[in-house]
Amino acid sequence: MIELWAVGGYSEVGSKNMTAIRIDDEVIILDMGYNVGKIVEYEGTEGEELVKLPYEKMLAIDAIPNDTKLHEEWGSMVKAIVIGHAHIDHCGAVRLLAPRYKKAPIIGTPFTLEVVRNTLEGKRIPNKFIPLNPSSKYKISDRVTIELVNMTHSTPQTSAVVIHTPYGKIVYANDYKLDDHPLIGKKPNYSRLKEISKNCLALISDTTRVEYTGHTPSEMLAREMLKDVLMRYLNRDVGIIVTTFSSHIARLSTLISLARKMGREPLLVGRSISNYLQAAKRAHIFSTDAKVFGYKRDVNKALRRANKEKSKYFVICTGNQGEPNSVLSRIANDETPYVLGDDDIVIFSCTVIPTPVSEANRKTIENKLLEKNVRIFRDIHVSGHASREDQKEFLQMLKPKHYFPTHGGIEKQAAAAKIAESIGYKINENVHILQDGQRMVIQE
Ligand SMILES: [Zn+2]
Repeated sequence: MIELWAVGGYSEVGSKNMTAIRIDDEVIILDMGYNVGKIVEYEGTEGEELVKLPYEKMLAIDAIPNDTKLHEEWGSMVKAIVIGHAHIDHCGAVRLLAPRYKKAPIIGTPFTLEVVRNTLEGKRIPNKFIPLNPSSKYKISDRVTIELVNMTHSTPQTSAVVIHTPYGKIVYANDYKLDDHPLIGKKPNYSRLKEISKNCLALISDTTRVEYTGHTPSEMLAREMLKDVLMRYLNRDVGIIVTTFSSHIARLSTLISLARKMGREPLLVGRSISNYLQAAKRAHIFSTDAKVFGYKRDVNKALRRANKEKSKYFVICTGNQGEPNSVLSRIANDETPYVLGDDDIVIFSCTVIPTPVSEANRKTIENKLLEKNVRIFRDIHVSGHASREDQKEFLQMLKPKHYFPTHGGIEKQAAAAKIAESIGYKINENVHILQDGQRMVIQE
């Protein structure tokens, strides 16, 4: 018997991802993520400061998936916790939830597990960590094997998790894009995905970008977009500040090399940028000799230096969503030695996450920057999520018997179901729209 329990991540975007799959008397948990919106709202940071809050408190503020029933009914059967990628809406809650299933090892790629380790901030948890390279397997029991298939997204070593069972394969690709020219790591392992399609029982995948037609452009295009904006300001005596997602190592790498191309010294500032770069270095996927400043005191020191000779430096900092305690917000609020003024440049190499908190925060910060006469560039970015044609292609590639669109909320899930219907699937027969807390037997 195979049963799917949609614990979290099905009812909204960027929130509490967690799915459990029961294969007879064995259970695999996929992802344990934060509700990023709640965390930003609660703390005004990128999540780091919440490390001291206990499980009960985080549950009460709806910041983590509610696994109470799952723990009660399936807890003793959990054999492994597999984390698909390093975004905190997929791995942030590991520190609080994984110890509840202490015999279950935590499986993920080296980079993902390094990021998980960072979220523990030195605290120990009883679970064993099992790093697994992209495109390799780990045997859980005689009947269940986990495989990580290399995919692309906006953070390195993102995987589609494949659970091999006697009933067929369950594929969990939450989140992914199909990027044939990623700047770090390899393109998706298409040949393996095609092999998996021979007996793919179910696909669980994200619908974040389902309303966009066509294909999502490659990360290579983001590099060209940034180059196009920045090179106009070559040899100009202006300050340059760029902010992006801290977990987007490929984008950080692009920014470092563009800074050097402009003859400027890159300064990477902010705690979460420092944490993610450290994880990338430990996982041997990216390291830089550029200077990185994580702690507030060091950040201020670096910014004081940059402020003295603005045209010599290129500041890459946290705060892409306008988070109140981020470096960019502190600069905009005149709380650092860096004084922004006429014609200085601030680039948002990201999109605004469509949650009320992020939208409000970004508006606040952009207004403050405009008051200072700063030149603002927004959306110099390509998404890390599959668009409509990618989603169709992915379904056609894997040919799952059952399809569970997730990570969207009902409208996005319904739009994804429509795509599936256009290639022969039928809603409620082999396309299933579940909400948080619902469960479904896939095969008796
Ligand atoms: Zn993600």
